[in-house]
Amino acid sequence: MSSDGSKGQKNKAISYSYIIGIVFLIVTVVLLVKNMIATQKDNLTAISAAPTPIQAENAVSSSASSPSPSPSPSPTPSPTPIPSTKPAASGINPSRVSSQPKQKNTSAAPLSDTEFKPLTKLQDDIFKGNLILVNNKYPYKFIGNINRVCLFESKTNSYKVSDYNIFTGEITVTPLNSMLDDFYSEMGTDDAFIISGYRSYETQQYLFDREIADKGEAEAVHWVARPGTSEHHTGLAIDFGILYDNGTYYEYDGTGDFAWINENCYKYGFIVRYQNNKKNITGIYYEPWHFRYVGIPHATKITELGLCLEEYIDYIRSYSYKKPLLIQTDDGSVYETYYCAGITAYVPINYSYEISGNNIDGFIVTVKIA
Ligand SMILES: [Zn+2]
Repeated sequence: MSSDGSKGQKNKAISYSYIIGIVFLIVTVVLLVKNMIATQKDNLTAISAAPTPIQAENAVSSSASSPSPSPSPSPTPSPTPIPSTKPAASGINPSRVSSQPKQKNTSAAPLSDTEFKPLTKLQDDIFKGNLILVNNKYPYKFIGNINRVCLFESKTNSYKVSDYNIFTGEITVTPLNSMLDDFYSEMGTDDAFIISGYRSYETQQYLFDREIADKGEAEAVHWVARPGTSEHHTGLAIDFGILYDNGTYYEYDGTGDFAWINENCYKYGFIVRYQNNKKNITGIYYEPWHFRYVGIPHATKITELGLCLEEYIDYIRSYSYKKPLLIQTDDGSVYETYYCAGITAYVPINYSYEISGNNIDGFIVTVKIA
């Protein structure tokens, strides 16, 4: 009986441990299955790497540390918001990528209602206009008189002009004034100082000789254009300096407050003509003070493409009136522009347009279509 009694106790003990063992086993199996489901869910919803391992780690450690049968809240904290925002964020990139070329490669067929007619120009007209390329290779042709005005008499109070003898092409005055008015209201300084505009051949000769005397001819040619090859002769180029109210003069380098001018000038139709990285093409060192008027649409496109004028005039050759280059300016206006070889240009019948020679061999037509 005692043996029976001990046997019975033994059996009881065995069955107790057996039951505990089974309960433990069931709990472990339940936990394991739950974890597996949770991790599978994670893998399905989040392919993104980071959250899933952490999730899995948490699940494993929670199941290992707590044998209590209530671990259900911890393995199922929904990580869905993180992964769902991730693909969305990365989804922005493709659309961004596609929107940039859209702006840059705005070439397309002309509007269906644009009709063109041939317009025969004079040979000399090739050497006139806002887009003429003037450099060592294509000197300025002395054709007709430039409509130029005394800047001192035409300027606003937002900037300074070095003296009464600064003249500039009439077409540049309004854009220059509005650019420097805006600069003044943005930066609160009227220290932008115009030191040079139109230069006659004689002035170019004088400046060139002075530079040679100063630096020697080999070096001088990289700083001052040979007489007849200066853009300043076009009346479309303007040089800046800085003159503080106390009378101190500084060379203009387009930095500090003045960087605003160099960054925004395209909105007014100007480009920084001699860029830092284009010396091998322009032949002229970086001149942050030298602005050239080309008109708003072309200044916008030149800036957008990061080209110098030499490159741009070449670039535009691949666009014809049948396949024009589209330009959208910051104010939302849309232009078509194209090149016409020789003296016969094609111009739209039902839209207003501007036409300029390129100073080489043809014309560039600019049509505002919207
Ligand atoms: Zn200059």
